[in-house]
Amino acid sequence: MNAVAPPLLTIARARELVLNAVTPLPTESLPVTEAGDRVLAEELKATGDVPPFPCSAMDGYAVLPGPAERRLTLAGESRAGTPALQPLGEKQAIRISTGAAIPAGATAVIPQEHVSVQDGEGEIVTRAAVREGDNVRGRGEDMRAGTTVLRAGTVLGAAELGAAVAAGAGRLTVAMRPRVRVLSTGDELKAPGEPLGPGEIHNSNGPMLVALAEHQGAACPAAGRLPDDRAATEAGLAAALQNADVVIVSGGVSVGPHDHVKPALETLGVEQVFWRVALQPGKPTWFGRRGNRLVFGLPGNPVSAAVTFGLFVRPALAALQGRGPERMLESEAVLATPIPRNPDRDQAVRVRLERQDGRLIATPNGPQGSHMVTSLLGADALALIGAGEGELAAGATVTLEPLPR
Ligand code: AMP
Ligand code: MG
Repeated sequence: MNAVAPPLLTIARARELVLNAVTPLPTESLPVTEAGDRVLAEELKATGDVPPFPCSAMDGYAVLPGPAERRLTLAGESRAGTPALQPLGEKQAIRISTGAAIPAGATAVIPQEHVSVQDGEGEIVTRAAVREGDNVRGRGEDMRAGTTVLRAGTVLGAAELGAAVAAGAGRLTVAMRPRVRVLSTGDELKAPGEPLGPGEIHNSNGPMLVALAEHQGAACPAAGRLPDDRAATEAGLAAALQNADVVIVSGGVSVGPHDHVKPALETLGVEQVFWRVALQPGKPTWFGRRGNRLVFGLPGNPVSAAVTFGLFVRPALAALQGRGPERMLESEAVLATPIPRNPDRDQAVRVRLERQDGRLIATPNGPQGSHMVTSLLGADALALIGAGEGELAAGATVTLEPLPR
């Protein structure tokens, strides 16, 4: 299977093949309080008007419109949660708090700063003219009953949860979290913090890929490690495939004598969808499926793993959850420095972005070697440099791709 290397796929084609393989996950109903960061699966409509009743925008007095100087009799109070008992009568004012219901008969609120209280508490004198509707929040001003407040595919951040509750929701139907299993392959890998023996390195991909997957909404236990051994690779992958929607393997997908991932997956009935993308870093990227289970074989170099996660795994996790397209505020930037092109492969360069004279400038974030994990630190995005001869000049416009956290 390793013998003949297939032609390189474009990034766009590879991503399309990934998305074609995705069947959205089932949904579940959760209390709003547990739905944070999940993806809403159904359109959410307001069950009633918000605010549900006309209410005061200020602490003050509910009144009728009138001129500046008025002497009004105090006739009760409307508090938040406890409306006034009687309607507003002729030449009366009702004390009112912010958010309290406007009493029947009243059509405006005069803020307490514009009022002096006379005769103990029995009477007020107004010091400002009042027009109809002043300081009154209309019923349904924020949301109208039956209107769509959140669309399916929305990620439920803090604002969305607040809006959902205001709209009357107690539970939300959300996509199940993709169950992701990360496996790092390599005899050289040591667990984080462990002392290194000769030729060993720390398994930085494991925790990095778990964090990346979790930030995309996945449920992902700590990464497992597989030695460069065919039987162990097969056993580890078989176990991962049992109860994961997505398996992410790092390393072992090249053509070396110790790269066992592809043949092991073949034995396990995982059908190869593609292998090798015209991408630097990330050429050996492998993608396959077994039924609805998706398997990504990412290259072992940490930068390659992070970049290919961003370009291929992130969209798959989003699509599994029915998440709408990511809103990138900027999709293009101008190169600050020339970048030598790769004749055969598009490059995904980690860049910092800065605005200068109204233009968004992309500066490569230090040395770009695929083993240089530090090139990810402080990077704002990936800039795609199309394959070709020579160099892409400073000032050229490049497409940006999000660099997931
Ligand atoms: P491979 O794709 O297995 O040939 O690995 C390519 C390079 O990435 C080698 O230098 C590996 O040592 C390195 N590498 C592989 N897996 C990891 C990992 N989990 N963490 C850090 N480096 C890795
Ligand atoms: Mg390896």
